[in-house]
Amino acid sequence: MKEHTVVIYQNADLQTSVRDIFRCLGWNGLGAKKVLVKPNMLRGALPEECVVTSPHLIEETVSFLMKSGAEVMVGDNPMPDTRFASVRDVADHCGFVTASRGAFRNIGRYTRKVKKPKNLLKEFHVSREVLDCDLLVSLPKYKSHELTTMTMAVKNHFGIIPGGLKPYIHSLFPGIEEFSRVLVEIYETRTPDVVIVDCLDVIDAKGRRHRPGMLIAGDNGHAIDFACALMAGIDPLRVPTIRIARDAGLFDPELINYVGALKRIDGFGLPLVFPFRSAIVAFVARILYRIWLGRIPIIDPRLCTECMSCENVCPPRAITKLHIDYNKCIKCYCCIEVCPAGAIRNKSRLRGRR
Ligand code: SF4
Ligand code: SF4
Repeated sequence: MKEHTVVIYQNADLQTSVRDIFRCLGWNGLGAKKVLVKPNMLRGALPEECVVTSPHLIEETVSFLMKSGAEVMVGDNPMPDTRFASVRDVADHCGFVTASRGAFRNIGRYTRKVKKPKNLLKEFHVSREVLDCDLLVSLPKYKSHELTTMTMAVKNHFGIIPGGLKPYIHSLFPGIEEFSRVLVEIYETRTPDVVIVDCLDVIDAKGRRHRPGMLIAGDNGHAIDFACALMAGIDPLRVPTIRIARDAGLFDPELINYVGALKRIDGFGLPLVFPFRSAIVAFVARILYRIWLGRIPIIDPRLCTECMSCENVCPPRAITKLHIDYNKCIKCYCCIEVCPAGAIRNKSRLRGRR
């Protein structure tokens, strides 16, 4: 196994740091490479809420890549949110559309099926742009997480799964251990070439704000997550995704080469660990996902122009001649994303169908 380089910058100029990270990882000339930049756009949130990637980091990354001659795309799959009419509106609210300098794309429209018969999750759909790009750049946000303790590189990659499919996968694997294994499997489907964790302004599990001013970067997401957990002051192997990756031989903590000083974020609060946490989390998750999966897509025939885009995009082929087979529908909402006429919306099953 080769050494894993983890580069740490603190309070350095963003433009210079981003350029140096790419150089340090061996990406000098990018020619006409197709690059997908994947920030963390979990939901529509303002930058000061510290739950999505800093627009400044996105902007500097995009500027560097464009100057290097790359063909750049920026995109992520947020959780569906009824407050916003489209994924672009979510991105706009986060400040990502401006930061992307015209390169923002909705990557939730078209999916490709991935088959992994030996995995826990044997079949799933990912945004096709993730599989088609030459270079994948991940920009996770440094955060604590109720289920997986912390979320950095590996958890950010759950966003390669289109919006509504994420809760569906959660519903299949609600327990901490099994869900963490699935996260590692999804990460390994197409590992990012460059990961830059945004640890500039962060918020912890107790809602306290910290300003570490740091970027943590490298090309092995598991090694980066290990370093990030050390910075939070916990045993990294307490984070299930890190332990699972270490046990599977996807990285070796002994082989991490730290470039720059790894400093602890004093007083960074993490979720409480208590007896039967895993069982309780799984129980609550099951209820929440049941409520979530109660939302169904509805086609409004008055608005439909019969373009057939929804039928073509539907991963399980649940739409035939504008009829949705709800027994097949997996609530991914790709049909809503792709409909050019705004003729599909999701509605609570409890409120009945029109
Ligand atoms: S009908 Fe269901 S499965 Fe098909 S695209 Fe729409 S939400 Fe996804
Ligand atoms: S994508 Fe929209 S407009 Fe096109 S067929 Fe489906 S519902 Fe109708």
